[in-house]
Amino acid sequence: MRKNIVAGNWKMHKTQKETVALIEEIFAKKPNTTTEIIVAPTFVNLSKAVEITNGKGITVAAQNMHQAEGGAFTGEIAASMLTDIGVTTVILGHSERRAYFHETDALLASKVDTALKHEMRIISCFGEELKDRQQNNHFNIVEYQLRDGLFHLEKKDWANIVLAYEPVWAIGTGETASPEQAQEIHAHIRSLIAAKYGQEVADEISILYGGSVKPDNAKEIFSQPDIDGGLIGGAALKIEDFSKIIEGFN
Ligand code: PEP
Repeated sequence: MRKNIVAGNWKMHKTQKETVALIEEIFAKKPNTTTEIIVAPTFVNLSKAVEITNGKGITVAAQNMHQAEGGAFTGEIAASMLTDIGVTTVILGHSERRAYFHETDALLASKVDTALKHEMRIISCFGEELKDRQQNNHFNIVEYQLRDGLFHLEKKDWANIVLAYEPVWAIGTGETASPEQAQEIHAHIRSLIAAKYGQEVADEISILYGGSVKPDNAKEIFSQPDIDGGLIGGAALKIEDFSKIIEGFN
């Protein structure tokens, strides 16, 4: 049975004090649910977040990591540094990493390999830009992103992969893919996994939707058969919104 997941990507927001406060609020409001709740604070607050969530039903993820094992890479973080402090889930390939830090599918493929070598779970983000959607090219774009970033993996590796389809035009813009648009492309993504790795792998993989998920649209988006949760940006920073989004599965 694939898992339902609601993950909050906090980006470059929240001091340590604010991180602790928001996590405590999530605990206080969290319904009794089988949905996995993930929070991804900034690097400097990961240790603290692990300390206060440990074993209590909220997973802490990193927002990025470097592909090298270590070395002269000023400002970067290695996989071993994350696992050492108890962080075993990492978001890779967010559209902001692709756009502002020039991360390509080839680079992301090597990050994925390093993360898997360290037995980490990866939330792998991808999705088309507005021009691709306008040209009706979005099905091809996600296919190329999967092929170049993930389809070198072996079947067994997929146990540690979560996919996050995030159309770039819907991230932080207030524009959301309609539930039908999202379902259509999620079904396509699942069919690509099935064609490459078999139906069993495709049925097990959690595919999250990201792009302006809010309390008023979460329930409908999450009710689509091929949508297994959300990767949430802006609305993950406010407890009222994030807790209502989590309730979207109840
Ligand atoms: C994101 O950054 O992954 C995201 C989906 O942001 P937002 O929810 O703000 O659109």
